[in-house]
Amino acid sequence: MSNRLPVHIKTEANKYLFERSVGGLTTGLINLFKKMKGYWIGWPGINDIPNKDKSKIYNKLKKDYRYVPVFLRNDEFEGFYNGFSNSTIWPLFHYQSMHTTYDQSQWDTYKDVNKKFCKKILEYAGKKDVIWVHDYQLLLLPGMLRKALPEATIGFFLHIPFPSQELFRLIPWRQEVLEGMLGSDLIGFHTFDYTRHFLSCCLRLANRENEFGMMKVDNRPVYADTFPMGIDVKKFFDFRTKKNKPVLLNKDLAKKKIILSVDRLDISKGMLERLISFERFLEKYPQWIGKVTYILICSPSRTHILNYQILKKKLDELVGNINGRFSTFNWTPVNYIYQSVSQEGLIDLYRRAHVAFVTPLRDGMNLVAKEYLASRNDYKGVLILSEGAGACNELGEALIVNPNDVEQMADSLNNALMLPVDEQKKRNKIMITRLRRYDIYRWGEDFMETLIEKGKKGEQLTNIELTEPIMNRIVNQYKSAQRRVIFLDYDGTLVTSSRKNEKVLPNNEILKLLKKLSSVKSNRVVLVSRRNRKILRKWFSGCKYLDIVAEHGLWIYRHKENSWEPLEQHVDSEWQAHIRPILETYVDRTPGAYIEEKPHSLTWNYRKSDPALAEIRLREMTINLLSIVAGKNLEILRGNKVVGVKLNNISKGKAALRILEEESEADFMMAVGDDWTDEEMFASLPETCVTIKVKYEELSRAKYFTKSPKGILTLLDKIV
Ligand code: UDP
Repeated sequence: MSNRLPVHIKTEANKYLFERSVGGLTTGLINLFKKMKGYWIGWPGINDIPNKDKSKIYNKLKKDYRYVPVFLRNDEFEGFYNGFSNSTIWPLFHYQSMHTTYDQSQWDTYKDVNKKFCKKILEYAGKKDVIWVHDYQLLLLPGMLRKALPEATIGFFLHIPFPSQELFRLIPWRQEVLEGMLGSDLIGFHTFDYTRHFLSCCLRLANRENEFGMMKVDNRPVYADTFPMGIDVKKFFDFRTKKNKPVLLNKDLAKKKIILSVDRLDISKGMLERLISFERFLEKYPQWIGKVTYILICSPSRTHILNYQILKKKLDELVGNINGRFSTFNWTPVNYIYQSVSQEGLIDLYRRAHVAFVTPLRDGMNLVAKEYLASRNDYKGVLILSEGAGACNELGEALIVNPNDVEQMADSLNNALMLPVDEQKKRNKIMITRLRRYDIYRWGEDFMETLIEKGKKGEQLTNIELTEPIMNRIVNQYKSAQRRVIFLDYDGTLVTSSRKNEKVLPNNEILKLLKKLSSVKSNRVVLVSRRNRKILRKWFSGCKYLDIVAEHGLWIYRHKENSWEPLEQHVDSEWQAHIRPILETYVDRTPGAYIEEKPHSLTWNYRKSDPALAEIRLREMTINLLSIVAGKNLEILRGNKVVGVKLNNISKGKAALRILEEESEADFMMAVGDDWTDEEMFASLPETCVTIKVKYEELSRAKYFTKSPKGILTLLDKIV
């Protein structure tokens, strides 16, 4: 799925003419597309097609190309493409917030058009198909598809930058945009920075934590990762052009030292700043006057948008000023071409240009920089590249510039023209080799392979919801067993957590359930809690046959013996005095964080803190803590928005195993819990144990999840 189908449709003498267009993306996907027998769904490039012609175009594209057109009306296109896509997302994502507009009706149209795309794909996609959605015009589509096809494998690739959350949060509909993207299994970006920005937005604006780029969304793993898009290096490198016959230049121009830039006319490309720096170069290094020509190729783009029209005007004026100021009767400094140039023409120019001057203010990737290098089969030439281009991450041997630093750019032009040929070749060889390794084909395959793998892995990673049929299955397992052991956490599992004791007191329903469940002779029911043992005994004194594990696993109460036994004989409690001051320091420095003290654990909770600040503090604090716990009987554990330090020989898991040692006959085991201490228990119990986590927006080792204690009470009720 992409906004634009890779085809040009022209009308001539009331006939439609079709021509396949071969952009970078089409090249990269064409092999995959054939291999996977896919459909490419997108807008056909023309609007308001009369109804009588639609089916003709539809059938032709489908039959000859396997392309499926999504027809749009002019007004839809206006709001969707010129509107929200290119007047909101494009400028904002390129850090041009002053050129960004937020228009409710454009946003509504954007949503409607995304829905239209979704509807079209649903006519074609099977339940478990692989769908790859491309770019910023279709940000909502993965979410819409996920609702309709929960089992499909959905990938999304953003071809433009993803901005820092400071900018992204300016969008009034930011939540919907993020949720739309998160419908995917895999979200790809060109650079690590864009991936990082996206993850940071998910954390701060949608409260989604990640582990190495993996988030949990509606009980599915969603991965964000970096896949820098390449080009068809071989095609550019091997392309045949005639050395003595320039495709576009006249002989005189071909003899000059050429500085070349090739861009769509766009606010993100830094053309004005570049021209100003070229002017400064001529002032600062007058020895080049008459010897160097700057060929500025600028292809028309988004001509209906006001900002683009204003930019065009400014550009025309600036070129006019520079040429007026420096031209002689037989030399013009800037050769300004406001037209699209063919690929053959471009490759010839790339090979003749001494310097490629590629200085976008921001650019998702920038293919021109890569094409320039790949075309240089003589390994000569110098690339001046902006640090604002995604390509900069891979092309560090270029002359890197800040696109706003006019002096630096002017100096770089001089340095580039003076760079010895040996040095040029050395640098270019390194970069071309790198581009060959991860070319456009590798990019497409890499994304697709990762997508399919992540899509599959999801099934194993996620927990299954505790629905009625699953509950019935568990009840049947329970019924057919001879001996059963059931571990139940209390706070957060049987009652909703609260820091106030009076709010979590067991009510009659819970007490009745536990009483009934534990009085069955063949059952051993164990309440497993972090709470103090005396309180637990008091609260559950009515449940005569209930066993209890208290204080993180330190104490085990067996009703048969009516006494408490410690899991460990010698428990050091001095350690807390050393750990607490460190945690306190980080409470002071992190608004919203607090310490929770339990007999054998100390936790630092940051649920209410700014997640990004908490992350930084956490890293620092963990380093400090590590030096203290090293060599001691302590361990540091991380849960959802909490870090705990505890004695490593005491845990709910160890206590549960101790109880299981006494229950060799058990043929039904179940453990239910809600937090990081219960995760330890899930991890130590045998595979056959039915494990249930209460909470679902978290990664868990448990097999099943339910959203609140109500689900557990229902299950227990069914059991008894
Ligand atoms: N291009 C072209 N003719 C032109 C100008 C550009 O064929 O007159 C091609 C160029 O070869 C490159 C693409 O358009 O493949 C521009 O891609 P880039 O990533 O540099 O910028 P974008 O336009 O996608 O922002």
